[in-house]
Amino acid sequence: MNISHLPTTDDLGAERVMVIGLDCAAPELWLDRWRHELPNIDALMRRGVWGPMRSCHPPITVPAWMIMASGQDAGAQGVYGFRSRTGPGYGDLTLTRRDFFQGQPIWERLGDEGLRSTIIGVPGTWPPRPLAGQMITGPLTPQQAPHCWPRTLETQVEALAGARYAFDVEGFRELPPDVLIERVCEMTQARFEVALELARQDDWNLLWVVEIGLDRLYHALWHCIDPTHPRYVDDPALAGALLDYHKQLDGHIGALVEACDDGETAFVVVSDHGAKSMTGGFLLNQWLIEQGLMTLKAPLESKVRFDPALIDWSQTRVWAMGGYCGRLFVNLEGREPQGIVKADEVEAILAQIEAGLQGLVTPQGEALAVETHRTGDLYREALGWPPEMVVYLGDLAWRALDTVGAPSVWAKSNDSGPDSANHAWHGIFIAAGGGLAHGEAVEGFELLDVAPLLETLLDVEVTR
Ligand SMILES: [Zn+2]
Repeated sequence: MNISHLPTTDDLGAERVMVIGLDCAAPELWLDRWRHELPNIDALMRRGVWGPMRSCHPPITVPAWMIMASGQDAGAQGVYGFRSRTGPGYGDLTLTRRDFFQGQPIWERLGDEGLRSTIIGVPGTWPPRPLAGQMITGPLTPQQAPHCWPRTLETQVEALAGARYAFDVEGFRELPPDVLIERVCEMTQARFEVALELARQDDWNLLWVVEIGLDRLYHALWHCIDPTHPRYVDDPALAGALLDYHKQLDGHIGALVEACDDGETAFVVVSDHGAKSMTGGFLLNQWLIEQGLMTLKAPLESKVRFDPALIDWSQTRVWAMGGYCGRLFVNLEGREPQGIVKADEVEAILAQIEAGLQGLVTPQGEALAVETHRTGDLYREALGWPPEMVVYLGDLAWRALDTVGAPSVWAKSNDSGPDSANHAWHGIFIAAGGGLAHGEAVEGFELLDVAPLLETLLDVEVTR
C-alpha cells in the first residue's frame, strides 16, 4: 500500500511513535473474536486505523521483524530464515544474527536525523549494534552474551527485573502447558515492566518493543481454541489461560499508552504473521530421495533430522531446509563443494520438482495446495545464499520437514518437537494518533508498509 492511501483526518506526523509488537498475534482473535475482552486494543482500534496485515516472504519471525523495521525484503537483506546459510558448504547453517542482515532498521538511521530510539526484544537484533538511543536485543540472544546498547543498560535491566528478564522461553515446545504458561507470563511481565520504565524516560522518538510469548503459547495451545484443528481438544482451562494471557498483554499495552499519551505520540500495534492450525508435516528431503534427486550414503534404519554427513553429494541434485516454508537448494557445479548440477540444468530440475509437488495428495485423500516460488520472482535482488526455490504447503497449514529415513513423507507433527500451530499469512495492524483516521478498518496494509509509515510519521527522508 502507498502510505498516502491510509485514511487520515490531518497531515501525518508525530513527535514520537511507540510500536508494540505482539509476535504471531492473529487477526481473528485480536481484531474480532476477543476484541471486546481487550479494552485497550479496542480503544486503539476506535482511535485509529486497523486491519489484517499481510506478512512477508518468508512469514517467519526472523527475518520478518527486521524486514518490517527496515522496509527491505529478505532478498535485499540476504536473510531467508531463522537459520541462515552462510557459505557454499552443505553444513554452513547458522542461527540468524543481526550481522547477517544487510539492510538497516529504522532505528539505525534515525540518529542521522537527531532522533533517538528505545528498542526492546526485537527478534534478529543480537548482537546489538550502536544506535542513537538504547537497545535490549531479542530472541536468539545467547545466554550470558552482551545484549544491550549501551552496555550500561544491562545494569538497569538487571536492577528492574533481575533473573526474570528472559529473551525467550527455553525449550518451549517440550514444556507441559501449565509450566509454559507460567514462564511466558513471567517473561512478559518482566519485559513490559522494563518497557514501561524505559518509556517513562522521556528521551525517545521511536520506542519499539516486541513480546515473543504469544507465539510460544499459540504453538502449544492453538488446538484448544480452534474447533477446526485436526487435534482439537475441548479444554476450557487451557483455552481460558490463553484468553487470560491476551488480557495480560492488553493490560500492558494500556499501561504503556497511558504513560505516553501526550497528544504528540502515535501508537502502532503489529504482529509479524498470524497463526493457524498445523495440519501436519511433509518430509521434503525424504520426498527428494523418492524422486531420485537426493541419495543417501547408506539406508537409514529409522528417521533422523537432515544431516549433510548422511548424504551422498556426488549423487544428489537438490536438498531442502524445512520450516514454515521449504527452502530448496540445487547442488550446483562450481558453487557447492561437490556440486553436480550444471547451470543450464537448474530450470528443468526446478520444473520437475514443481510438477511433482503439484500432484501431492495428503493421507486424508485431499489434493495438497502447493505454492512454489523461484527466488528471482520473489525478490528484486537476492543477496547472501538464497535458495533456488521456496515452497509453501497447504497455504502454510502443512510444515516442510527436513527429516529423512521415515517410512512416509507425511507426518502428524513437527520434527523440532510437539506443535499445534503454524504461521498464517496475516498478522495484525493498528495505528492510532499522528493524524490517522479514527476507527477505520483498512484492507491491503502489508508488513513492508510499516517502515514507510513510521518514516512518514517521524518525517524522515529515506532512500531505499
Ligand atoms: Zn513470529
